[in-house]
Amino acid sequence: MTDRREKLRRQLKHEGLDALLVTSFTNVTYLTGFTGDDSYLLLGRGGDLLISDQRYTTQLEQECPGLELAIRGPGTKMLEFAASVLERAKPRRLGIEADSMTVGLRNALAEALPTIELAPTSGWVEELRVIKDKDEIERTRRACDLARRAFEVVRAKLVPEMTEQQVANEIEYQARQFGAKGVSFETIVAVGPRAALPHARPTARRIADSPFTLIDWGVNEGLYMSDLTRVLATAKISPKLRKLYGVVLKAQLAGIEAIRPGATCEQVDRAARSIIEQAGYGRHFGHGLGHGIGLEIHEAPRLAQGQERPLKPGMIVTVEPGIYFPEWGGIRIEDDVLVTRSGHEVLTSVPKEIDECLVG
Ligand code: ZN
Ligand code: ZN
Repeated sequence: MTDRREKLRRQLKHEGLDALLVTSFTNVTYLTGFTGDDSYLLLGRGGDLLISDQRYTTQLEQECPGLELAIRGPGTKMLEFAASVLERAKPRRLGIEADSMTVGLRNALAEALPTIELAPTSGWVEELRVIKDKDEIERTRRACDLARRAFEVVRAKLVPEMTEQQVANEIEYQARQFGAKGVSFETIVAVGPRAALPHARPTARRIADSPFTLIDWGVNEGLYMSDLTRVLATAKISPKLRKLYGVVLKAQLAGIEAIRPGATCEQVDRAARSIIEQAGYGRHFGHGLGHGIGLEIHEAPRLAQGQERPLKPGMIVTVEPGIYFPEWGGIRIEDDVLVTRSGHEVLTSVPKEIDECLVG
């Protein structure tokens, strides 16, 4: 964590700022290891100060020993307290996180501290978060493994009478049983035509209502997330399903194959998209190929058209092409992939050949 803060300190100096007030709780976690909420980090050229409250005192001592703390009592509002801390620290030019600071806090600080210049910054910490270090990669690996284990149990228990909601509940329950903090987002379990909705919420529809079900799930191991999608066939695989599934899988494998340092995000998107286009389904693939994962489920970089950013070792992205027909349903296959120095490594290991998708 200290090396992350040192990098920002160098940036502060470079940009002529005296301090940065980190107001995104996720960024505070990234920079300090503190997993609670409602806390800001004042990162100064001379040192750091975590601004928090009494509920977290014990947790702070455990999670970030050695970090200087400013703890407010129950009677003080965060806004006033942050202003008083800044008044003491007296930065001349203070960087603020434009993407997370509320207008209310900004105005209150400007009013309380008229001599401090508030300089909006954007994406400083997020940019550091794009490249995962060894510990972050290990945690993501664990999140992927927990997702696999939960899915295997649910898959083995799947019966036609189960509803979308019951399957989703079961995935979450199993993930927790295996030691996960929870799921990384509300699990999508979509039967038949509902699988054409990219963000279908699970309903009381039964698995038996359609020959196939799309499941998009992920696990939060404590801090880091995984994100996978599989289609399970619950009846004989029709020629149409086999054909479309084959196209999506081919596209997904081509996308994964294109991942290596130096390849741009749009090149990877193109590698997968061109296969779906050549098969004649280009307009049925209406979203980007993938996204970064980490402390949040959607992070930079985005694998999509127009994204010219080159991939670098340590980035972790999803690869998730899909083909959707509103009346019929959708097929999507999603895995999590680490960019390595020599190419890539797929972190998820749930079987995805069409005949391995047949349950029962
Ligand atoms: Zn997903
Ligand atoms: Zn995803």
